[in-house]
Amino acid sequence: MCGIIGISQNKNAAKLVFVGLYALQHRGEEAAGIASYDGKEIYLKKKTGLVADAFDEKAIEELKGETAIGHCRYSTTGSSNQKNIQPFLVTHRGKPLAIAHNGNLTNTEKLYAKLEEEGALFQTTMDSEIIIHLLARTKNGDLKKWFVSVLSQLEGSFSLIFLSGDTIIGARDPNGFRPLCLGRLDNKYVLASETCAFDLIKAEFVREISPGEVVFIKGEKIESVFLPEIENKKKAHCIFENIYFARPDSNIFDDNVYETRKRLGAQLAKEHPIKADFVMSIPDSGNYAASGFAQELGLPLEIGFIRNHYIGRTFIQPSQFLRDFRVRVKLNPISHIIKGKRIVVVEDSIVRGTTSKSRIDELRRAGAKEIHMRISCPPIISPCFYGIDFPSKEELIAASRTIQQVADFIKVDSLGYLSLKGMLSVMKYPQDFCHACFSGEYPVAVPYNKSKYLLEGKRE
Ligand code: AMP
Repeated sequence: MCGIIGISQNKNAAKLVFVGLYALQHRGEEAAGIASYDGKEIYLKKKTGLVADAFDEKAIEELKGETAIGHCRYSTTGSSNQKNIQPFLVTHRGKPLAIAHNGNLTNTEKLYAKLEEEGALFQTTMDSEIIIHLLARTKNGDLKKWFVSVLSQLEGSFSLIFLSGDTIIGARDPNGFRPLCLGRLDNKYVLASETCAFDLIKAEFVREISPGEVVFIKGEKIESVFLPEIENKKKAHCIFENIYFARPDSNIFDDNVYETRKRLGAQLAKEHPIKADFVMSIPDSGNYAASGFAQELGLPLEIGFIRNHYIGRTFIQPSQFLRDFRVRVKLNPISHIIKGKRIVVVEDSIVRGTTSKSRIDELRRAGAKEIHMRISCPPIISPCFYGIDFPSKEELIAASRTIQQVADFIKVDSLGYLSLKGMLSVMKYPQDFCHACFSGEYPVAVPYNKSKYLLEGKRE
């Protein structure tokens, strides 16, 4: 998963992109990059780590020009290495062309094979580079024709921001898997994955880029075209963005994320009510559903876990000794309020079950009398091929176990998941969502080779 942002005709373009990336940090914590253009030169800075670690003031100052795009990365194709950090930059017909991609293509293998056969030399192992090679092969026409012809060859999920000279181009796949929003700052258009980035840079939200739409932006001018045959494509917004991924202060898919999560929690309470002394969440992701759950049942909501905000990089890939402390260093239960109590713990989802198991273990050690766990989405049973880094079926705890077996594994007194029907019933446009991770119903054909390291395998 990744966060993307683009700004044109602003003398502080790169600075604003940098600030905007802070708001999108939750979408990708592995690496960050910014490309900018001053009419003559293109500037590019990218580095592994969080946005705050990837750029210092000097680096931001050196990103000159009035056009800039930025990316923060969470790898869902290709390894997490230096050459795979975006934006990816080339020269195309004498002009700089940079790409920032959120999503996963599903026809990577086919396109790659064709391009390699034609002599393309790949520099990275990301599916995003394929888009650049296809653009390099376009003939005749103009920017609009080139982009429409290339983007219509792609399958899977893509929200994209390009920098082409002093134009920024935004595009969203015909199913609209990932969000992409249009904003306005000082009368000039800006693009970002989520509206929380607009709040931070004081831009106003205009609208979402429609599924299958490609926009060409130069300051206050915007031109929009659509990919062919989009009327035959069904919308398939990723429901996991609403459940967990997007920030609660964002509005995506024409709905507010915070509100959606509260509705999910309230529906969960209707489906799995329970008598308890209080409701608590596993912060931060479970907070909003917990609030909806507690309000629905009229139970008190307590903050049972205190979050430590000072977790440095040491804990990202720690040694074995430190790894044992990794989960516990982040959250500490307040035994004073937990001891002897019957509690309902609300969490947004269970993926592998390992974090949930250790959280429950800590609550037991803090003296909880009964622990009832409630999950504000259905059991995750199938991997995602459209951009969420869900592990293989074997690693998904609910894929091969009954709910009772999951409850036994994480050692709770009861476990209740929201039903698929209940989850969809609280969405504004239930028919417009992809729920493949819960239902196994994939709206777009999944790739034959399912490895995230698909293009690395090609080189072995
Ligand atoms: P676990 O109990 O280990 O499955 O961890 C559950 C927590 O990790 C929940 O808050 C999940 O929403 C969160 N999570 C979200 N996305 C992922 C992911 N792609 N892989 C692993 N955990 C995730």
